[in-house]
This record gives sequence, C-alpha cells and structure tokens, in this order.
Amino acid sequence: MHLIHRLFAILLFVLAGLTPVSARAAGEVLPVALAGNIAGDSASTRFFIDFDSELPVKTFYMDQPNRIVIDIGEADFEFANGKALEPRGLITDVQFGRIAKGRSRIVLTLLQPAEIIKASMSKRLDHDTYRFLLDIDSTDEDTYSALLEEQRKTIGESGLKAHKGDRVKPVEKKEPGRFTIVLDPGHGGIDGGATGRGGTQEKDIVLDFAFKLRELLENAGPFDVLLTREEDVFMSLRERLSFNRRSNSDLFISIHADSLRQRYVRGSTIYTLSKKASDKLSERLAESENSVDLVAGLAVEEEVAIVTDILVDLTTRETTRFSRRFSDILVDRLSDKIRLIKNPQRSAAFGVLKAPEVPGVLIELGYLSNAEDEKLLQDDAWHAKTAQAITEAAIEFFSYRINQ
Ligand SMILES: [Zn+2]
Repeated sequence: MHLIHRLFAILLFVLAGLTPVSARAAGEVLPVALAGNIAGDSASTRFFIDFDSELPVKTFYMDQPNRIVIDIGEADFEFANGKALEPRGLITDVQFGRIAKGRSRIVLTLLQPAEIIKASMSKRLDHDTYRFLLDIDSTDEDTYSALLEEQRKTIGESGLKAHKGDRVKPVEKKEPGRFTIVLDPGHGGIDGGATGRGGTQEKDIVLDFAFKLRELLENAGPFDVLLTREEDVFMSLRERLSFNRRSNSDLFISIHADSLRQRYVRGSTIYTLSKKASDKLSERLAESENSVDLVAGLAVEEEVAIVTDILVDLTTRETTRFSRRFSDILVDRLSDKIRLIKNPQRSAAFGVLKAPEVPGVLIELGYLSNAEDEKLLQDDAWHAKTAQAITEAAIEFFSYRINQ
C-alpha cells in the first residue's frame, strides 16, 4: 500500500517535471521563462531571469534613452502575465517579448549610464534551470559613450536592428477589378500597446479584430486582404510601411485600441495623416504610436521621408483626398452601429500612414483606459458589428473610387 503511494508520488513528480513547457503555435515548444527578479540600488543592480533550458544571449548598449538590450532565442514569458518585474535601482523600465521569428528581447531602460559587469547564462547548481544573470554598475556619461563607440566598432549598427522586410511578400500582379486591402493590427510581441484595467492587452484585441474584419471583407467583395502580422510578433513602423507599399495595396487600415489619461474618453476615432495634429490629444497619441520602436529597443530610425518630388507631391495630394473620403464614409457607417468620440475625424503625423501612394486610416476602436470600452473591446458581437460597418464602408469607398 505504502509502496504504491510512493510510486504514485514519484510518478507525479516526474510528470510535473516534464510538463512546464508551453506550446505557442501547434507543435512548437518554446523555452519557458520561469521567474525573474531585480535587486540592488542606483549604484549597483542585479537582474536575473530563470529559464527551463539554455538560450543564446547577446547584450547591447543603446542611447537616447540609455538602455541595455538583451537578445535571446525565442522564449515564452508567460510567467510575467499580470506580474511584471518591478523596476528598481539602475533599472527604471523592463520590457520583454518576441521581437522576430526565433528571437526574443529584453529591454532595460537605465536611470543613468551603467556598465555591464557580468552577463551570463549558466546552469543553476542543484536545479534543472538556467539563469541569465546581469550585474550592472553606475558609470559616467564619458564611459558610457566609450562603451557605445567600442560596440559600434565590433558589431556595427546592423546588429541592433530587427530583421527588415523578410516577411513581406513580393508584389503580385492583380486581376482587374480586384482590390488589395492591408490590415495592420498595431503593436505585437515585445510591444504590448495599451493595457486595460482588467489586464487586456491592445496587441491581442486588435489582432482578433483584424481576423474578424478580414473574414467579412473577403466574403463581401473582390478584396484580397493581407495582414501585416498574423501572430504575436513585434513589427517596426518601417516594416509595416514597407509591407503596405510592397503589397501594392489600394487601402490601408491600421487598427488600435489605446489608452488615455482621461479615463472618461470613450468611443471610436478615425485618424488620417496630417503634418500638424488636429488637436492635443491626437498629437500625443501619434507621438506614443510613433515611439513603439523605442519600446522594442530599436535604434531611432530616421523619419520615413516623403520625397518632395512634384509627382510624388501630386500622388500624395490624391492619396490624402482618398483617405479623407474613406474616413467620411467610415464615420457615416460606424455612427449607425457604434459609439464614436466627439469629433471622430481627427488627424496627426502617424508614421505608419506615410505611404505616399496608399490611402489609409488609423482606427482607434476604443480606449482601454475606459471601463465600458474595455468590455466592448472584448465582446465578439461588438467586433462583428464594427467589422461589418467597416466592410460596408470599404465597398462604398471602392465603388466611389472606380468612378473617379
Ligand atoms: Zn496602439
């Protein structure tokens, strides 16, 4: 009897040891981040994360703002759901997640210049786990600049960039009478976007919504619908823009659900591109959307330039006119079905809308900072009726366009 109990206990123990692997895609088993911690003060800080298996690690320094970036193989960071690593000491912010296929990244924002004293991944004694350990000490501006300079010499700038454009399909010849629509679910991977009070993440909501919208669009008209991302992965603004342009698309719809300090603000907003923002709120929103590359630990890329060639200028003017038109139609269709914010047509300098030849809008479906909106943003019926209104607007827009 006792023996059977003991055998059973051993079996459970063995099974427990085998199970803490979580699969992301079907059949894909990723190394799992089990726990982590930050300790120390503003002179000396220790950061660690334990994994269930060994991963390749590379560390980099970055400036503007000063950061330490840790690139590792792809890992599952589920441990941190709802329990983020508390920044302390020299570390004022921690972001982590998938940055590209096969790669994850941890970005530590620094309180002041700091130097890596130790960075290692090693098996823990008496444990079946591996610890990535980082020790940093505060240093002065000059030493930090020298570290950056040294790094530039050895790895060049390219080591810091996310992979570029390799998910972009080459342009396909279109059948006459068919239109390509690119849907752009915002954020992804290491960049979660806004978080609701109930823990809802913008990146997940907008992806779900994009799937629903694609289904309705494809069933409703002669539309080929492409998504800039179909999984939880980071994409830089440049990658999104280049995806849109190389897809030879006829319409671009970026989908977001952000948060605002003004918790009472709720409802959907349609944004188009403009150099000068229509209002303060829109200006701040565009600033935060345009800074997602920073969140992911990328170098600040130069502004995607709109060439001031006269032909391009004419194209841009026509594109602006069509974007405006689509925004008018959208507001018209959406206002029958869902709640919009006051003055729902707004504009600002959103980097992602800067393809000169593709009309586009950025839709803020609602605000995760508002409790009622957060509920709606997770409601399938609300997704369906909103996607239905956008689909009707797309049909109306293209029938207007072919008559121009
Ligand atoms: Zn967003």
